Amino acid sequence: MKKVYIETLGCQMNKSDAERMYGMLECLDYTQTENPKEADLLIINTCSIRQLSEDKAYSAIGVWGKWKKESKPDLKIVFAGCVAQQAGENVLKRAPYVDLVLGTQRLYELPELIKRIETGERVVSVDETPFEESDIKINRVKSVNAWIPIMEGCNNFCTYCIVPYTRGRERSRKPELIMSEVKKALSEGFKEITLLGQNVDSYQGGEEGQNLSWLLRQINALDGKFRIRFVTNYPTEITEELINTVIELDKVCEYFHIPMQSGDDYILKKMNRRYDYATYKKICDNLRSRIPDVTITSDFIAGFPGETEEQFENTLKAMSELELDYSNTAAYSPREKTVAAKWVDLYIPEDIKTDRLARLNEHNRACCLKSNQKYLGREIEILVEKFEEDKKVITGRTRNNKIVHVPYDKDITGGFVNVKITGARTWYLNGELV
Ligand code: SF4
Repeated sequence: MKKVYIETLGCQMNKSDAERMYGMLECLDYTQTENPKEADLLIINTCSIRQLSEDKAYSAIGVWGKWKKESKPDLKIVFAGCVAQQAGENVLKRAPYVDLVLGTQRLYELPELIKRIETGERVVSVDETPFEESDIKINRVKSVNAWIPIMEGCNNFCTYCIVPYTRGRERSRKPELIMSEVKKALSEGFKEITLLGQNVDSYQGGEEGQNLSWLLRQINALDGKFRIRFVTNYPTEITEELINTVIELDKVCEYFHIPMQSGDDYILKKMNRRYDYATYKKICDNLRSRIPDVTITSDFIAGFPGETEEQFENTLKAMSELELDYSNTAAYSPREKTVAAKWVDLYIPEDIKTDRLARLNEHNRACCLKSNQKYLGREIEILVEKFEEDKKVITGRTRNNKIVHVPYDKDITGGFVNVKITGARTWYLNGELV
């Protein structure tokens, strides 16, 4: 049997694509290896959200190209994912040892393309017309959480974001394919299903009424004890129906990830986000008043082109005022093709961006600690995700996505247990079994 190694950079969507690739390749008699040096087929699954990830991808294949030239002439190298989608033919010019450039929308074409490169052909497949999906085998990473994409792409064209150019326009997966994947994951022992999409609120299964709430109901009705999550929400697309669904369905967790990006109205407009601070605040207030203990997390960018100190401070203020439970933060990184990348005159100097990011992170840490302290002394259910034998500690998550470490000497990964919270740190809670 031949061996395949996949290196995945970037987001959960890429990780999910890697699980699909492994599944499809197993049907072509490839086995998975953790050691790239012993592989017959090497795949880099690239991310283009920041320049750093793009550079990392090219540097990884540079090393692989060297192996191929020096000692493994039959080695096949695949350049896949978001950078591949954008760069297309140029990848072959830059890295002549690459055999296949595979765009994000051609994932399901992989088995056919692998057969072609095995005969010595070099192929670029980055057509924006998605290759029809079929009910394929998926080799999930062993864990308690199965990430299942329900839609892909985005129509929003935020001025800083590369996703609409790399993942294409928004399209939802067929409900029957999603349900078959969910049932399979549950039968394999997964205890948490996370529905994944750039804007999960826009899900449309094809027939009237088949929206995200409808999908959550179908999954919630399946037998067994398990949890359901969904990410990511676009702020203004969180409907009353969705909130009611989260309240009503016992398996759906009280957790919303709602990227805000900036707390300043002028910058939000320049980002082409379709809300202002007051609207975002209203959404948070509504969620907090209707769903006790709801966790709200967000994303922020520091140093967007033209951002003044005052506008940046509005972001810090927003983070604290909204008592956000956690935020992903990043310094602005210009991405080719996007609108904001053309505003070169407005770029913020690197040292200021770095300083703003550090202050944003400092604020984030304070918000996280404050959020965690609310749970001190409370009893709460966790789903155990991990056991560290050397430390005799189990780690799990609450329904609202708080990480809890608990001293325990047995591996009960996948189990639901009640714990009492005894300590609150910035990034996690400590607890004891009750
Ligand atoms: S909504 Fe999200 S994925 Fe879509 S363009 Fe904006 S930031 Fe990118």
